[in-house]
Amino acid sequence: MKYLARLKSLQTCFERDRIDAAFITHLVNIRYLCGFTGSSGVLAFCRGVWDFFTDGRYTEQARKQVNGATVRVDALPPLAHAARSIGTKLKRSRAAARILIERDYMTLGMQARLTSELECVIPRSRFRMIQTTGTVERLRIRKDQEEIDQIRKAVDLASSIFSAVLNKIKPQATENAVAAKLEYLARSCGAEKMSFDTIVASGVRSALPHARPTLLKIGRGFVVLDYGVILGGYCSDMTRTVYVGRADKRMRDLHSAVLEAQLAGIAAVRSGVEAQQVDSVARGVLRKHKLDRYFTHSLGHGVGIEIHESPRLAKGETTTLEAGMVVTIEPGAYIPGKGGVRIEDMVLVTDSGCEVLTPTPKELVIL
Ligand code: ZN
Ligand code: ZN
Repeated sequence: MKYLARLKSLQTCFERDRIDAAFITHLVNIRYLCGFTGSSGVLAFCRGVWDFFTDGRYTEQARKQVNGATVRVDALPPLAHAARSIGTKLKRSRAAARILIERDYMTLGMQARLTSELECVIPRSRFRMIQTTGTVERLRIRKDQEEIDQIRKAVDLASSIFSAVLNKIKPQATENAVAAKLEYLARSCGAEKMSFDTIVASGVRSALPHARPTLLKIGRGFVVLDYGVILGGYCSDMTRTVYVGRADKRMRDLHSAVLEAQLAGIAAVRSGVEAQQVDSVARGVLRKHKLDRYFTHSLGHGVGIEIHESPRLAKGETTTLEAGMVVTIEPGAYIPGKGGVRIEDMVLVTDSGCEVLTPTPKELVIL
């Protein structure tokens, strides 16, 4: 991965915003910027130099993985160690130093600790905390070739286990058993873990967009399967809805309306289009079928190292889609007391449109 280029891009943002020092505390951002995959560490910047602070459990791993930053290990917790070290470097500055922190990944407790540790080495009047949101995330929004290749592998793995699980979906099987099979297969095929809690929702429960699997028997009706895997640090996300038993016309029409909306959403994706525009195209198809009031969530989201990333494809989202973004297109219609349908693919935005990454067919499978 291009860690040095990523650190350089972030440094350019810091220069633009006159940032003297920064504490990167979101582990996902740390992984993206320097390659460290452990669970404890702080990536700190001060005047053109990057240091990575971790604890004794990760000495060896950090030395192997971290790119572009000097690894520092101490008995102090990483944040305290980083604060002392950066504070000492800032001591020499005359003006009050501008210190960037990631507001979404710094608890009040962490901030209090950071401030008090800095105060041990530099007077409070000599530094200012600049709370930011989305600074690193904006760099992550467009994927480079290596990331796209990794995402493809995660998507292909998840798709490859879908057909293997179909023969487990029977009226007598429980939702839990189907979820367990999916997760067992995913792990067996090399997934690091699932990218979120697997959803298997059957019968009337298929109308709950984020249902958790239960010990209930699947019985007859729709079964929504929404799951994804993490492979090489990158997530996948897909949803298919199958039907157990004889689907009447109303149910088949429900599925085909959602599929029509999904295909229209995919057709609307292109570099230069606003995220909300794609949502509105898919929603418009459901409106035509008088189903828009049953579509109760946004159309999609970015996917990368995290399962939910920018951009969101939703009303009011003015982010312009750009080539290299990877997003889901996942319309649904959930009719309380009856059942629901969702169909979700991952797509790669290109200059002329998009490439659908998920290879699994989308016609209604009747079991
Ligand atoms: Zn999903
Ligand atoms: Zn999704």
